[in-house]
Amino acid sequence: MDLLHANDRTGEYPDSWYAATTEALPPFPALEGEASADVCVVGGGYTGLSAALHLAEAGLSVVLLEAHRVGFGASGRNGGQLGSGQRRDQQELEAMVGRDTARRFWELGQDAKQLVRDLVARHGIDCQLKDGIAWAATSDNSARHLDDYAAHMARHYDYPLERFDAEGMQALCRSPDYRGGVLDMGAAHLHPLKLALGLARAARAAGVRIFERALVTGWDEGTPAVVRTEAGTARADHVILATNGYLGRLDDRVGARVMPINNFVVATEPLGDRAAEVLTRDVAVCDDRFVVNYFRLSHDKRLIFGGGESYGYRFPDDIRAKVRKPLLQTFPHLADVKLDYAWGGTLAITRQRLPHLARVAPNVLSASGYSGHGVGNAVQAGRLLAEAVRGRSEGFDTFAALPSPAFPGGARLRSPLLTLAMSWFSLRDRLGI
Ligand SMILES: Cc1cc2nc3c(=O)[nH]c(=O)nc-3n(C[C@H](O)[C@H](O)[C@H](O)COP(=O)(O)OP(=O)(O)OC[C@H]3O[C@@H](n4cnc5c(N)ncnc54)[C@H](O)[C@@H]3O)c2cc1C
Repeated sequence: MDLLHANDRTGEYPDSWYAATTEALPPFPALEGEASADVCVVGGGYTGLSAALHLAEAGLSVVLLEAHRVGFGASGRNGGQLGSGQRRDQQELEAMVGRDTARRFWELGQDAKQLVRDLVARHGIDCQLKDGIAWAATSDNSARHLDDYAAHMARHYDYPLERFDAEGMQALCRSPDYRGGVLDMGAAHLHPLKLALGLARAARAAGVRIFERALVTGWDEGTPAVVRTEAGTARADHVILATNGYLGRLDDRVGARVMPINNFVVATEPLGDRAAEVLTRDVAVCDDRFVVNYFRLSHDKRLIFGGGESYGYRFPDDIRAKVRKPLLQTFPHLADVKLDYAWGGTLAITRQRLPHLARVAPNVLSASGYSGHGVGNAVQAGRLLAEAVRGRSEGFDTFAALPSPAFPGGARLRSPLLTLAMSWFSLRDRLGI
């Protein structure tokens, strides 16, 4: 059993609100026999699609191999939040890597958001992109921290964050749980599957040969490198591994540093006028819990609410019940609201909660581990991988130079150890300590 097959039907999107509101592309063929190209990309999420698109636009021939359907993975299931900067905030980054390098990562984050906006505009991707993400504090301490952070960002980055006390935050977001917060109007939110399929459409138009139901079972180093699927083989001068949380045993050096976790989302029935009992502005929200709650309203006024994690292979039997708990903790007045959709997805984290970009062989590159910040990071990593293949590796090298310690236990044993650690942190969330 592996995460590619543990919770899903082969070649099908999950029963998410996203899949229900998106017209799927006609299926791409499976790879049978031999294919060859300048570059073989493994994985059809934001990372792989963006890499393939940028490579094809630069004139290279590209084969993309996707085990299920393009946008099947985290890219078609996520919370749709296009956050600023990196997963770590700027003060944390400054403490980790120093102020100059932290500033470089801030600029890369700004560039990632702009790249998504540019791709959406250039390729006419109708993914309901809207400005604004609020960070909500669940304690007075955390509210003070966010207030200090807003002052820091204004002073050192000339970046405005709107500040809210408890009353202001509760006027924006009707949760009695929130004690203050900030609103980042430079960040955005969007329909994630529509973004993924828009990138796939653009990649196809640029000449990328996309194969679906093309499960990669292994690869051999060399020039060309050889990528094996169940029914065929692709030979390419360069290979890009863009499998994120679904890497499995494709590369244990990456696997030791990048850890899959599962996260869950529900969509309520349309709320109509009651939408104002959730949010009074059309922005997304994420809170400060270790297992983050994140949400926004859909265009048909459903609450799309993400919360709850698991660290094993299998999703819980009852995802609705799992997510209903944090949802009702946040919005107790929605107890009577029906949950029309519930789904899970697999993302990948690193120990530092920063992306892991690596050259795993001279002509084999990998990018993953965006730690819940992949809407911008992954699209950008795709472009950086494409640039690195073409010999311009400055952006790739900046990320690749980040320390990326292995998880205790390596690729084989990391899961049980992480489960223990993460369970402890989420227990602290539940106990409020
Ligand atoms: C529930 C959830 C909520 C999230 N919310 C947010 C959010 O609000 N904001 C944010 O920034 N990030 C969020 N994320 C993270 C974000 O979705 C990911 O970081 C991002 O989508 C990663 O893109 P990717 O292309 O690297 O991986 P994926 O989209 O997972 O794509 C990997 C693809 O590779 C394919 N693949 C894997 N192995 C093989 C193989 N052996 N052969 C062929 N194909 C293979 C898979 O089928 C999959 O389609 C969330 C993730 C989840 C799961």
